[in-house]
Amino acid sequence: MSNIDAVFRFAPSPNGELHLGHAYSALVNFDLARASGGKFLLRHEDIDTARCTPTFERQVEEDLAFLGIEWDEAPRRQSEHMHDYAAALEALAAEDLVYPAFMSRGEIRAHVERFEAEEGRAWPRDPDGAPLYPGLDRHASTGERERRMSDGERFAWRLDVERAIEMVPALTWDEHGASPLGESGAIVARPLEWGDVILGRMDIPTSYHLSVVVDDAIQGVTDVVRGRDLFYATSIHRLLQALLGLTPPRYHHHPLILDADGRKLSKSAGDTSIRSLRKAGLTAEDIRRMVGLSGRPGGPAGDILRRRES
Ligand code: GLU
Repeated sequence: MSNIDAVFRFAPSPNGELHLGHAYSALVNFDLARASGGKFLLRHEDIDTARCTPTFERQVEEDLAFLGIEWDEAPRRQSEHMHDYAAALEALAAEDLVYPAFMSRGEIRAHVERFEAEEGRAWPRDPDGAPLYPGLDRHASTGERERRMSDGERFAWRLDVERAIEMVPALTWDEHGASPLGESGAIVARPLEWGDVILGRMDIPTSYHLSVVVDDAIQGVTDVVRGRDLFYATSIHRLLQALLGLTPPRYHHHPLILDADGRKLSKSAGDTSIRSLRKAGLTAEDIRRMVGLSGRPGGPAGDILRRRES
């Protein structure tokens, strides 16, 4: 990964306090950026304006500074770039690759329960375990879509994934870390596993999947280093890059820091938050050691990832 043009990023959502898992991811990105002579960027993924707050954003920056992390450009705040995502969504709409999907969460649940009761088999689920969108309105006529939208019915813009995969050749991405099952190297993208994902909402012209792909391209990110919980989502990211004509970065999915019971840390996991550890008197070096990193921030990073994966 040594490359002076390398661009790394840490992209948290400021909707809670950073915990040890975030600290690990941020430190690894920062160390790798410094070791390669490349850049380290900070991006606030704050499209969910109901849950993201300026206070959490300030705390993210304070926690990173406490850990000895410095970012090389002003942080990018997604809420300030809605026009970039809207343009990408429009480009997909122009190719008929998105449609207004009107089924609410409750309607999806009822549809799935009815299917499972009647058919005696499970409705397909995505890699995160959520039922795939039934897509009953995927092929609605333009007239019907317009009528329902102008009636004020709630909807989300969803990707027509079957149509999308017909438009691009079989896709792979370059994985320098590993999947939860240990796969590495050229990974075949399987976007169909996710079904018709949400790419935009009525009031926000984007979703996590769309904005992460657009931003990584706009910011010239060459190396996406993030937790293995996002490994499978990369199939969708790779598909969106191909549809939008964006250069894919290299990916490195790292192991997650788990709690004492082997569970993924959450933003409400109070005692593993960086702030509470800091208040309890721990130093940045203590936190580096807790997540299995030695040395100083920005120090040699060569064996960090290999060591944690072995
Ligand atoms: N904002 C995402 C999160 O906090 C991370 C996005 C990414 O690294 O691709 O989980």
